[in-house]
Amino acid sequence: MHSVRLLGTPKTFRVGKIVCLGRNYYEHIRELGNEVPDQPVIFIKPATSIIGDGETVVIPPYSSDCHHEVELAVLIGKWGKNIAEAEAMEHVAGYGVAIDLTLRDVQNELKKKGLPWEIAKGFDTACPLSDFVPATEIADPHNLRLSLQVNGTLRQDSSTALMMRRIETTIHHMSTIFTLEEGDIILTGTPAGVGPVVAGDRMTAEIEAVGRLEVTVR
Ligand code: MG
Repeated sequence: MHSVRLLGTPKTFRVGKIVCLGRNYYEHIRELGNEVPDQPVIFIKPATSIIGDGETVVIPPYSSDCHHEVELAVLIGKWGKNIAEAEAMEHVAGYGVAIDLTLRDVQNELKKKGLPWEIAKGFDTACPLSDFVPATEIADPHNLRLSLQVNGTLRQDSSTALMMRRIETTIHHMSTIFTLEEGDIILTGTPAGVGPVVAGDRMTAEIEAVGRLEVTVR
């Protein structure tokens, strides 16, 4: 059972599910040669895929192409189903930094066959996650610089302003499919610049005003 902390409060949240949005930044869709989806691309990572700051990513032996994807993580603070867009932000307890690690070679094979992505996205250590900053401290979550460095080299550098679907739209849509409970986490998609990491690499992900997350790869 994995818990996350909401900084500046005594509160910890037991993570239920991690619901992830794919293809939410145009330049990233282009770099992978994907189509802009009419409907949101959604998948789930199990809570067992979470590791914390300073921990180690273990690439499974069935992949030789593990990619980093820095993403703004949204922590759900209260139960909701069919949440209206106008009320969606009231369900957000805080924001964090996540890396949606993706076994790109495995995912590409699964995509070709029309098969689900879990083994490419949900393996143990596939979701490095920072502590969360209370939502009240983030004036505009749609205007934050997010970046990722590998061994000190900048690989991703963008802004949450470039998200195609806004957080309230995503919460509304996801909550029509999955009841969202306290402790659930939403990953909001990655901007351009994704690429491979290998054993020995150090990833540093950062989101302005939200935090910093550093993990190494074994
Ligand atoms: Mg992603």
